Amino acid sequence: MKKELRFNSRTIHGGQQPDKAYGAVMPPIYQTSTFAQTSPGEHRGYEYSRSGNPTRHALEESLASIESGRYGLAFASGLAAMDAVMKLLSPGDEVLATNDLYGGSYRLFRKVFEPLGIRFRFMGMQDAADIGAAIGPDTRLLWVETPTNPMMNVIDIRAVAEICRSRGILLAVDNTFATPYLQRPLELGADIVMHSATKYLGGHSDVVAGGLVVSDEKLAERLYFIQNASGAVCGPMDSYLVLRGIKTLHVRMQRHCENGEAVARYLAGHPGVEKVYWPGFPTHPNHDIASEQMSGFGGMISFIPKGAQFRDAVRIVEHLKVFTLAESLGGVESLAGHPASMTHASIPREEREKSGVTDALIRLSVGIEDAADLIEDLQNALEAS
Ligand SMILES: *Cc1c(COP(=O)(O)O)cnc(C)c1O
Repeated sequence: MKKELRFNSRTIHGGQQPDKAYGAVMPPIYQTSTFAQTSPGEHRGYEYSRSGNPTRHALEESLASIESGRYGLAFASGLAAMDAVMKLLSPGDEVLATNDLYGGSYRLFRKVFEPLGIRFRFMGMQDAADIGAAIGPDTRLLWVETPTNPMMNVIDIRAVAEICRSRGILLAVDNTFATPYLQRPLELGADIVMHSATKYLGGHSDVVAGGLVVSDEKLAERLYFIQNASGAVCGPMDSYLVLRGIKTLHVRMQRHCENGEAVARYLAGHPGVEKVYWPGFPTHPNHDIASEQMSGFGGMISFIPKGAQFRDAVRIVEHLKVFTLAESLGGVESLAGHPASMTHASIPREEREKSGVTDALIRLSVGIEDAADLIEDLQNALEAS
């Protein structure tokens, strides 16, 4: 019944009921490893918290609801969620992935799963027509990040999903940047949605967690098996924090979008700025598809200061006072990062620069402060350096 609510209501009520014991409106934090049984194998739905925990279950139902899927799974981190997806594959299988993606995803693919016999190829997917030709006989999965991190390329999920379906290949979308408030990949034909709930879903920079959402029952069963067998589950306290974050996702995202636009426009008009990467500009190469597939452009922006080298970019981020220089994104507070030395340092320079992540690139996660304070902060930093 709750599934039929509109999106903003689903962030609050999706898959949620008052707790069965006392009617607690917020799911209690069931901080327990195990559950009493009346007779061997007789229990009230939970036996051991790796296999299932009521607080985690509440989060999993919420994730499924906001992503318009049927099954949600909550993990200890975004990378743990990705790790579970990779374990669907066998040695010899191949993954085609976007060439511009989160550094930790690249590391997981190249340094953990490649040595185990799974092959990875990276390519630009902005032109869906390139994908059909790239798919080989061993390709089992397409891994897509959109918008990409940090170059803000946008990939046409519906077009890619059609290609994947016709070739019998799974499509997984990392929806961390957009969140289901802006884009819901399952509605566009993807098979798996992945989240680093550490970012916008949690929203307050106080938890590391991850999630998967799928609609296919067999796929859900296999992923649940892997989740339980490998054990990287989301703990009860962390599940509670993410659930609490999700309840305000829509109001936070609305402000992230407004502030993101204000900051992007300010930077684009600044004489000391060479280039701004933000899909809301009509000049952005993927603006049309971004407008179609997303209901807003979000608060993630990358930019290159004019004539800047490594040191100049570093000096600018060092001068910021309202923006905090830190890894991560998606919290209420604004963060700035220098991908080449931070989030993307694990990608070899040559690979990095091929996708545009140069030494001068600065990435902003625009928070929900007063936009005027953020703009003043950027102005001071650009002028001081
Ligand atoms: C942070 C991030 C991840 C990894 O998630 P963790 O929660 O840090 O493990 C994956 N993809 C994207 C796009 C991210 O920003």
